[in-house]
Amino acid sequence: MTRHRMYINGQRTESHRSAWFPVYDPSTEEIIAEVPDSDASDIDRAVQAAAAAFASGPWPQTTAQDRGRLLFKLADRIRAHAPALAELESRNCGKPIVEAEFDINDTATCFEYYGGLANKVMGHVNPVPDNALSFTLREPVGVAGQIIPWNYPLLMAAWKLAPALAAGCTCVLKPAEQTPLSALEIAGYFEDIGFPPGVINIVTGFGETAGAPLVAHPAVSKIAFTGSAAVGKLIVKSAADTVKRVTLELGGKSPNIFFADADFEAAIDGALFGVFINQGEVCSAGSRILVEKSIYSKFVEAMVEKSKRIRLGAPLDRETKMGPLVSRAQYDRVRQYQELGKTEARLAAGGGRAASHARGYYVEPTIFADVDNNARIAREEIFGPVAAVIPFDGEADAIRIANDTPYGLAAAVWSRDIFRAFRIVKALRAGIVWVNHMQPTYVEAPWGGYKQSGFGRELGPWGIEEYLETKQVYINLNEQPIGWY
Ligand code: NDP
Repeated sequence: MTRHRMYINGQRTESHRSAWFPVYDPSTEEIIAEVPDSDASDIDRAVQAAAAAFASGPWPQTTAQDRGRLLFKLADRIRAHAPALAELESRNCGKPIVEAEFDINDTATCFEYYGGLANKVMGHVNPVPDNALSFTLREPVGVAGQIIPWNYPLLMAAWKLAPALAAGCTCVLKPAEQTPLSALEIAGYFEDIGFPPGVINIVTGFGETAGAPLVAHPAVSKIAFTGSAAVGKLIVKSAADTVKRVTLELGGKSPNIFFADADFEAAIDGALFGVFINQGEVCSAGSRILVEKSIYSKFVEAMVEKSKRIRLGAPLDRETKMGPLVSRAQYDRVRQYQELGKTEARLAAGGGRAASHARGYYVEPTIFADVDNNARIAREEIFGPVAAVIPFDGEADAIRIANDTPYGLAAAVWSRDIFRAFRIVKALRAGIVWVNHMQPTYVEAPWGGYKQSGFGRELGPWGIEEYLETKQVYINLNEQPIGWY
């Protein structure tokens, strides 16, 4: 078991109290590392370093080209260490190694994308009517506080760091308490690549003792948060005191809608993939599966049959399709929902701990059928491999059920009728709607929620916008006095 120190102002460091907390391998329930348990004083140290690096030293002098090159170098370094990073990620959060490899590739791609975008940020000339030149400068917002969850640890770090650094911000990033290891690992690359001290700080700790002081800190200009709606609401309230810019990527209860004219085999695959990928620990999980009544029974039967082939196993086994849940707390939470579901609907598959594994936070892929959309398993985000299958009768019914949720992160519709599919796309209140697929996510395209799934957009050009201020410059071209008085 190793102690991994965090990274503040270009230095590896302990917390000021020399306090540590354990990090687990969820497949064995064993402690694999310890990391610093930070508090407000450590957060202050990191924020002061980020504020100093933003105000003076080499970082404010960098050109957009310089920042782009640094991001390309970071991407190259991540690619060079991809196998080791994927293994670390897989061990720490329990996701199958093959999925972790995709995540690391996407992480590098994200740094490359924003490396390329850094020098394509432009202002405008504004057509003011007087004899004057008005134009806009785009400037970094300042110190960005970034708080991320445990389901895609390094990828979520990249979604936050890459646009912020491209924009010229400096960053204090707090990983989730369960999964800090991959972010701490890449911190070892920063100095060597040429990021000045203080530009990127990685501070480990718990939400209430490290995350909350980061949100409250007066020298932080913007908070970018991904996590639960409950914590998102606390963050908005706290950020109000210092009028911080806030972007929130919260959870969802996303509908995956299947019409009778969809390709049946593709639909069954899509229903299972939509809800069981990454053990269901996905903010956009298609956890409400809406199926047209005319194919409903056949659909549920086929889903159940195919779900039996999902192979649970050790995260590092390349044949594994589903690993353990991330933590004891998440395991207990999902087990409670499995039991609740048995009282609310018909259990069609799974429903318990995976009997094949004596240790580790393994649960069975679980399918509940004949679920009422008012049931708690249809309304609350479970964040595990639990599907609620709901019958519907025609387009209007599908739209009504799909939109009847406080969330609005994602949705999918399956149909061979392009006109129908597009009618549904327009009617759904969600930040992304897939047609005949569910889950593909690309750095080139926007990501974010409607309703209580949050606000702001990450990825693509939208992502960098969230880290930029707009300054108007007005140049008077009249040589005469104003002449008002
Ligand atoms: P949380 O919202 O509790 O945590 C997300 C991040 O916020 C973590 O880094 C956490 O720290 C931090 N945090 C917690 N409390 C505070 C606070 N008061 N102030 C500032 N930061 C804080 O999510 P969980 O990780 O506990 O997961 C629970 C639920 O969150 C899931 O079941 C799901 O509903 C949702 N979720 C959504 C995700 C998405 O991508 N949209 C991703 C992950 C989770 P710490 O690690 O110490 O708790």
